Amino acid sequence: SKTAYVRTKPHLNIGTMGHVDHGKTTLTAAITKVLAERGSGAFVPFDRIDRAPEEVARGITINIAHVEYETDTRHYAHVDMPGHADYVKNMVTGAAQLDGAILVVSALDGIMPQTAEHVLLARQVGVDHIVVALNKADAVDDGEDTMLADLVELEVRELLTAHGYGGDSAPVVRVSGLRALEGDPRWTASVEALLDAVDTYVPMPERYLDAPFLLPVENVLTITGRGTVVTGAVERGTVRVGDRVEVLGAGVETVVTGLETFGRPMQEAQAGDNVALLLRGMPRDAVRRGHVVAEPGSVVPRRRFTAQVYVLSAREGGRTTPLATGYRPQFYIRTADVVGDVDLGTAAVARPGEQVEMTVELGRETPLEPGLGFAIREGGRTVGAGTVTAVL
Ligand code: GDP
Ligand code: MG
Repeated sequence: SKTAYVRTKPHLNIGTMGHVDHGKTTLTAAITKVLAERGSGAFVPFDRIDRAPEEVARGITINIAHVEYETDTRHYAHVDMPGHADYVKNMVTGAAQLDGAILVVSALDGIMPQTAEHVLLARQVGVDHIVVALNKADAVDDGEDTMLADLVELEVRELLTAHGYGGDSAPVVRVSGLRALEGDPRWTASVEALLDAVDTYVPMPERYLDAPFLLPVENVLTITGRGTVVTGAVERGTVRVGDRVEVLGAGVETVVTGLETFGRPMQEAQAGDNVALLLRGMPRDAVRRGHVVAEPGSVVPRRRFTAQVYVLSAREGGRTTPLATGYRPQFYIRTADVVGDVDLGTAAVARPGEQVEMTVELGRETPLEPGLGFAIREGGRTVGAGTVTAVL
C-alpha cells in the first residue's frame, strides 16, 4: 500500500506566474529535476505539467498542474497554469492559495502585458512575496545582451515597486530553465540559487489552524470502488479522517472517510495543505467546483455584501467604459463563479482605473466573510478585483 505522508517540514504553496512563453512550465520541470537529483522529490517532465488533465466544471475549463518537491528546509506544492485565463480563475480567486510566487520574466522579451497583470492580481489577492526568475538568461549571456538583461531587471524591479512589492529588495535571479533541464551544471546552479531565494525570501505564512475547517472545492473525482473525492487547498482549520463535515452548495452533511495529499494517505490535513477528501455516501453529481466543505454550522452562506473594488484600467486588460449600478458581471469567489448585481450607491459610476465601494447581490448563496478576495469577470476577461468589507 501507499506510504503515508509524514509532515517533517513546513509546507508552503507557491506557483509560477508570468507572460505566456516566458518559460514557466520549463522552469517548473527544471526545479523538479534539480531537486530530484538531490534526492528530494520526483522529476516531473514538461509534458506531464503542460498536459495536466482538464476538468470542465459548469462550462469553465480549469487547467492547473500541481507538483510537489522539498528543499532542505521546506515542503512545497507548486502550481503551474498554462493560460492567462487559468491564472485569473485559480490564482486571483484565491483557489491556488499562493503563499508566494515566482514571477517568470523572459530576459529576452522583458515585461509583457500578462507579466504586469499577474503582479497586479497577486497584490489584490494578498500574495505578499514575489521572487523573480529572470529566465532565458542563457540567451542573453554575452556582450551587449547582458545589458538587455540588466534593463529587464530594472524594469521588473520598477513594476514590483509600483505594486508595493519593494522592488529594490526582491530577489531577481538569472536562470535558464531550459539549460537546467538539459543538465548544464552552471544553469542547474542558477535554479538552486532561485530555490534558495524562495526558501529565504518567502516567509512561512500564518496558518489559521484553530479556526473551523474550511476547504473550497477545486475539483471532484470519482474513485471506482471508493466513492466521491473532492480536492482543494485547506483554507483554514484542520480535518481528520472520521470528522463530520458539511458541503455548502450541495446541502449535504457527511463524514470524511479518507484523506490524501499528493497520492499519499494522511491522518490529519491542516490549513495550507493540498488534499483530496473522500466523502461518505456523497453522490458524484451533488458536489461541484465552487462548493465549500466546512465544519458543520461554522459558516452561513449569504448573498449580499459590500466590497472595495479596483476597476482595472484598459491598459491592464480591463474595460474601456465605466460601469454603473445595475451592472451584472460574474464574481469569482474562492473557487465559485457566481453572477451578481452591482449597486454603486451615490457614486453612480466607476471608471476604469478607479477604486470604488459597491454593494453586491449574488445570484446564489455563497460563504462570505470580510477580507475575502474575489475577481470580477465579464466576457472572459478580468475587469475588477475586490475584497469583501462587510456581509449584509
Ligand atoms: P510558459 O508558457 O511560460 O509555460 O513557457 P514554456 O515553458 O512553455 O516555454 C516557452 C518556450 O520558451 C519554449 O520553447 C521553451 O523551450 C523556451 N524556453 C523556456 N525556458 C527557456 C530558457 O531558459 N532558455 C531558452 N533559451 N528558452 C527557454
Ligand atoms: Mg506553460
